[in-house]
Amino acid sequence: MACRWPLNSLKSTAAVAAPELASQLAPQLDCQHCGACCSAFRVSFYWAEADVFGLPEEMIERVTPLYSCMAGTNASAPRCVALTGTLGEGVSCSIYAQRPSPCREVQTGDAQCLRARSLKGLDVLTPLPGLRDAAARS
Ligand code: SF4
Ligand code: SF4
Repeated sequence: MACRWPLNSLKSTAAVAAPELASQLAPQLDCQHCGACCSAFRVSFYWAEADVFGLPEEMIERVTPLYSCMAGTNASAPRCVALTGTLGEGVSCSIYAQRPSPCREVQTGDAQCLRARSLKGLDVLTPLPGLRDAAARS
């Protein structure tokens, strides 16, 4: 996946890992079995994006006069209200087509992705469920 849900996003604070490292790790990561970056940081964006992307008003929280965030992510234990499912098992974004810019920026295997997975206790080298099943059968 290039970007989560079937790839997704976030947060623009961390430096991006070396592209070659990200590309090597990406095949081992599956956003639809993860969701860490929707549950690890505040997902903030310029307030006008809400209108541009048609974000549901009830899913937005105003942070400052210039910035808003996805509701649920401005908390000590963040979790975006648009995230459905169980972290690390099966998740999806209920507003994928309308997600804000931070959610379009994170790439599987980049620094932000790896930091989120680390924060949520998801090892980047944990095999995907299909691979675990195959290993168990062998
Ligand atoms: S932390 Fe990485 S693997 Fe997990 S959903 Fe985000 S981009 Fe995908
Ligand atoms: S809007 Fe979607 S992609 Fe963005 S943080 Fe929320 S659940 Fe994740």
